[in-house]
Amino acid sequence: MIPVNEPALGEREIELVADCVRSGWVSSAGRYLDEFERRWAEYCDMKHGVAVSSGTAALDVAVSCLRLQPGDEVILPSFTIISCAQAITKHGGLPVLVDCDPDTWCLDVDQVAARITPRTRAVMAVHMYGHPADMDPLRELADRHGLVLIEDAAEAHGAEYKRKRCGGLGDISCFSFYANKIITTGEGGMILTDRDDWAAHARAYRNLCFGSERRFHHEELGENYRMTNMQAALGVAQLDRVDEIVAHKRAMAAAYTERLQSCKALRLPTEREWARSTFWMYGVVLKDGGRGAAGLAVELAKRLQARGVQTRPFFLGMHEQPAFHRMGLFAGEEYPVTEMLARQGLYLPSGTALQLSQVDQVAAAVNEVMR
Ligand SMILES: *Cc1c(COP(=O)(O)O)cnc(C)c1O
Repeated sequence: MIPVNEPALGEREIELVADCVRSGWVSSAGRYLDEFERRWAEYCDMKHGVAVSSGTAALDVAVSCLRLQPGDEVILPSFTIISCAQAITKHGGLPVLVDCDPDTWCLDVDQVAARITPRTRAVMAVHMYGHPADMDPLRELADRHGLVLIEDAAEAHGAEYKRKRCGGLGDISCFSFYANKIITTGEGGMILTDRDDWAAHARAYRNLCFGSERRFHHEELGENYRMTNMQAALGVAQLDRVDEIVAHKRAMAAAYTERLQSCKALRLPTEREWARSTFWMYGVVLKDGGRGAAGLAVELAKRLQARGVQTRPFFLGMHEQPAFHRMGLFAGEEYPVTEMLARQGLYLPSGTALQLSQVDQVAAAVNEVMR
């Protein structure tokens, strides 16, 4: 079976994690934590890095920096992971959805402009499956309306927008280092920002907002979102070869495209001229040749599984989540591109450990099934 996701880990990762165990620096302090935060911020050209326990935690921390008032609105794509919308509702804000671009699968900038109201506080751009969102027009909208621009770069380590790294484009950005991301710490995340006050708040919030004068005195409530030195050690080892990992991802994506482009029933990932995608997940979308592409996607996944190839379906839109409907959100809203992608998209094996021989096998299986 070719797994949908397998991280490339090596001797250096083992060595650095073992160093933590040997030295006893296993909890949430230590030199690897400091180094990982500093170097990741530097890599993305941001001033501060604050490591946390997951990408979901990073989004929570980022939204908590906004100090939303009840009814404040944050615009985000419907086509994303639940963590994005949940961070907003948790802090009393109102998530306002937009559809996505059918080629890049990132949020539709024109729709963002159309949904700005006097209550809008922020826009959360999600770089989807390794392809950057179109950030310049979002920056312009944010500046014109006094909004905070949040980047969810959990899928876009090393991706570039007009030669600037994703995660260095917004006012505050969020990363995940879960095992299936391009750089992993097993579980983990980070927020980056240039703002000193937000970085200080993030450091307090991830550590239960302990008082600085008197421990166990709390002016505010935070969370335990601390990352361990062991996780950071894994991250440092990964960061040492991030360029190699990103180049490998791009090479595997190019190999997939070369082998699948003659398959006319599939829409393959694209790359805008201003983008350098990392193709975090190599997704394919079944074209709607009449009716039933959704059923065909399920069938394709089944037949690939029978041929030893694991796949995963795409995200299901936020407006189709019962958990939000029960909160009275998104009733009757429709986002046709998101709905199409959720039903007709699936991604092929894309882990950082994926080898060319496996791409050959997967592509051969896809071509055979699609014929
Ligand atoms: C993976 C992911 C997250 C959540 O990260 P976790 O570390 O799994 O909590 C958030 N946003 C996006 C876009 C992701 O892909």
